[in-house]
Formats: sequence, structure tokens, C-alpha cells
Amino acid sequence: MKTKLGVEFEIDFSHILKGHPKCGKLHGHTSRIQVEIMGDLVKGSTYQDNMLMDFADMKTQCWNVISQLDHNDLNTMFEYPTSENIAGWIFENLEDKIPLSSVKFYEGNGKWCIVEK
Ligand SMILES: [Zn+2]
Repeated sequence: MKTKLGVEFEIDFSHILKGHPKCGKLHGHTSRIQVEIMGDLVKGSTYQDNMLMDFADMKTQCWNVISQLDHNDLNTMFEYPTSENIAGWIFENLEDKIPLSSVKFYEGNGKWCIVEK
């Protein structure tokens, strides 16, 4: 049975989208980020065999990547720091570290981007 596990983070950042009529001015966002992993539960005899991954380990792995965005000017990391590019960057930096299923990146409230395997 496919099982998913998720953790959520919150970051603050600033960015400018060059050429955009509204977002071309320096502004900031508080963003929620949800990361999900997916796998088959083994259900062995230890607690480790009864979870996809320890939440604490998952949070540590994710935060090692996501913290690079926090309180940062994202134009120093991306030419176009759109939700799509930010979510994609998180996905690419996590996919070798955890059994990643999806990254959901909220730009403020009510707007999001999902990158999936
Ligand atoms: Zn913005």
C-alpha cells in the first residue's frame, strides 16, 4: 500500500520578477512549503520498520535545503524566482536525499505550485 508522509515549513523571502508589471518591484512573502515522501510500508518488528521515515530525520533533511531560502533575497539564487522555479529547486535538491513524492510551495496565501515526481 502506498503511504505518504509530509512535513511543513514556513520561510520569509524577498524577490523581484524582472519585467512583471506588479512583481517587478521589490517585495516579500511569507511562504509555507509542504514536502511529501512516498513509499511502501514494510511493517516489520521494529518501530523503524513501521514508518517510511522518522519525521525528525525528514525535517532535518528538508530544512538543510529549505533554510537556504529563508530570509534571503532570492534574486541572488535565481534569475527568475517564481514559485515554479523555487519549488523545482527544492525538489531537485531533495530528490537524492529522501524518497520524494512532491513539493508544494505557497507564494503567500491562496496561491501555490506543486512539483511532483
Ligand atoms: Zn512575489
